[in-house]
Amino acid sequence: MKPGARRLTGSDGVSHTFDPGSFALELILSGGPPPWDRYEQLQTPDDAAAWLAGSYLAADLPFAAEDVRISKPDLTRLKEFRTMLWHVVPALIADAKEVPGIAARDLTPADREYLNSTVGETPRPELDEHGAIRWQTPITMRQVLGAAAQDLIEIIGSDRVSRLRMCQGSNCALMFYDTSRPGNRRWCSMQRCGNRHKVGNYRTRHND
Ligand SMILES: [Zn+2]
Repeated sequence: MKPGARRLTGSDGVSHTFDPGSFALELILSGGPPPWDRYEQLQTPDDAAAWLAGSYLAADLPFAAEDVRISKPDLTRLKEFRTMLWHVVPALIADAKEVPGIAARDLTPADREYLNSTVGETPRPELDEHGAIRWQTPITMRQVLGAAAQDLIEIIGSDRVSRLRMCQGSNCALMFYDTSRPGNRRWCSMQRCGNRHKVGNYRTRHND
């Protein structure tokens, strides 16, 4: 599976692959504030390092969990950023459904200040002894959050914000950045909500 695409299991136990389309949107999937903390995947700094090694951050140039340096306070900072995403991203999505337990809010001056002060350093590439590209290690939380803040700013500060979506499936609040060329992605995944929609249409037609 390519970095950034995530295997998710719904409350019905069925798994599907979900591509959140960007690093910032992907962070939302790693867990969240209550009541979404039951899906927490970042219990420890090691969990977070492993999660990051499978994320969009590693899409163009892979790195290993051991290449990331994360302390406990770093993990707290990562979760603070993620909590901000949970609150502000739904408010930026046209016709978003309500996310259960989450109060969506328009970007506040404090959010803006937080994002502007978080952007800055991002992971740095370098050349190894054979002249091939690799990441400078360790990759720090400052760089991880810098990359996430930059990703979000580039999306929400431009026309790209109109490509933020929430899956149109009923009972599905998965949020993603639509990277499809025509910009018409509607579902978290075709195997899940897209397929349910097709089946629903089929049943509706045949019940007429
Ligand atoms: Zn869905």
